[in-house]
Order: sequence, then C-alpha cells, then structure tokens
Amino acid sequence: MMGDIQRMKADVVVVGTGPGGSTVARDLTLKGKKVILLEWGKDVPPRGTAFRGGGEYVGGPGALNLHKGILVSKEQTLMIRGVTTGGSSMMYLGSAYDPDPEMWKPFGFDLQRESDEIKEELNVKPLPDHLIGPGANLLMQAAKDLGYNWGKFNKLINADKCVKDCNECMFGCKRGAKFHARDWALDAASHGATLINEAFCDEIMVENNTATGVRATGKGGVKYE
Ligand SMILES: Cc1cc2nc3c(=O)[nH]c(=O)nc-3n(C[C@H](O)[C@H](O)[C@H](O)COP(=O)(O)OP(=O)(O)OC[C@H]3O[C@@H](n4cnc5c(N)ncnc54)[C@H](O)[C@@H]3O)c2cc1C
Repeated sequence: MMGDIQRMKADVVVVGTGPGGSTVARDLTLKGKKVILLEWGKDVPPRGTAFRGGGEYVGGPGALNLHKGILVSKEQTLMIRGVTTGGSSMMYLGSAYDPDPEMWKPFGFDLQRESDEIKEELNVKPLPDHLIGPGANLLMQAAKDLGYNWGKFNKLINADKCVKDCNECMFGCKRGAKFHARDWALDAASHGATLINEAFCDEIMVENNTATGVRATGKGGVKYE
C-alpha cells in the first residue's frame, strides 16, 4: 500500500545483479547467508534480438530521458549499460581478459586464485577456429601481417552450445552459450536469495559508521527498508 514501508531482514543486501552483484549474492547464498538482491531493471530472458537489447535491456523506451541505460557524454559519446537482471553482461561481448597482477599489486590484492577459479568454473577459453567469423579472421591476419602479436581472446562462451554464424549473442544468448550474470542471480534466487526486480536503491542506511541496510523504491512506488 502507498505510504507503507515494507520491512525485510537479511544478512546481506546486494544492490544490482550485474557480474559484481550476482557473483557476491550467489556465493554468499551458497554459503548459507540470507541475501536480498535489488535490481533496478526488469527481468528479461535472453532472446537474442536487437529489439530486446535496444529496448528492454537499456531500461525501456524512456531510457534516454531517464538516464538509465543510454547516456550521452558532453563530448557526444554514446554510452550504454544494461539495466536488467544480469546488468551489462546481457549485452557484453563475452571476452575475458585476465586481471593484470602488476596493476593490483600496489593495492595489496592478488586475484590469481579468483581468476583461476572463475576460468575453471565457467570454462573460459578461446573459441575454436570454426566459430571465429570472417571479419575477425581478416582483422587477425592483417594485424599479424603488420607484425602485431594478435591472437584469439579468451571467451565466456561455451563452444559446445555456440552456433556458427548465429551472430545474435550481443543482445543476450538465447542458446545458453554465452555466460550472463543473470544465470547467477537466478541461481542465487533458486537457492533461497530474494530477488526483487524494478527496485531502485535510494539510500544506504548507516549507523555508527556501519552500513545496516538500504532504502529502496519498488514497482508502483512501494517503499522497502
Ligand atoms: C556493449 C558492451 C560490451 C561489453 N563487452 C565486454 C566484454 O567482452 N568483456 C568484458 O569483460 N566486459 C565487457 N563489457 C563490460 C561489462 O559488461 C561490465 O564491466 C560489467 O557488466 C560490469 O559489471 P557490474 O556488476 O559492475 O555492473 P553492471 O553490469 O552495470 O550491473 C549493475 C546493475 O546494477 C543495477 N543498478 C544500478 N544502480 C542501481 C540502484 N541504485 N538500485 C538497484 N539496482 C541498480 C543496474 O540496473 C545493473 O543491472 C561490455 C559492456 C558493454 C555495455
């Protein structure tokens, strides 16, 4: 009801279901924590059409006005992001670049174990040659002819499910070949996490310098705390 606040309790509230949020939510859920996942966008299963990608993944037809999924910088550069379960992973290219250990060293992080773990779990590797398109092959050959060390990238794509010349995965892979963070958000939910779509986190509640909860606005203006 309007005016009422729906109060919920959890060990952890995760805001956003992109690769960052979904990974954390799934891991914590599998470790037995009670997790609430808040996602601003709607849940849209991947159908692999530009209509989906150009519309619902970027936050619906009002996306430009709402500064949701489509933004234009002052230099007139178009920037897009996915506002949907899975975040921008619903429309990414599936390329997987290893974190550079030298870059993280000054901050005291060593991500090697996590990187190895995720590569193993998601079977991250380059696509076999027959799945590399003619454009990419031409580019690779031209770069090699010019002396560049150009090779195939690791991909978050399961080659066994990928279909040659399908070319639709940019807007969400309907074949389940390309990894989407949506898979992990739904997996977290299937293991007991509460996933609330169309809920925008307005505020982090803080007591004694500790985050204790969030305030959010959901569908129809419902308020969550
Ligand atoms: C076209 C394109 C191609 C790309 N290709 C690649 C690639 O090949 N390889 C690669 O590694 N990366 C690629 N990226 C980048 C990659 O998708 C992002 O780095 C990644 O999705 C970031 O994950 P994230 O969880 O930090 O954020 P996001 O994926 O942006 O997810 C954030 C989520 O939080 C939600 N949210 C935001 N604010 C709130 C709020 N206040 N309340 C509730 N929910 C909120 C959003 O709706 C969204 O779902 C690509 C990106 C794009 C757009």
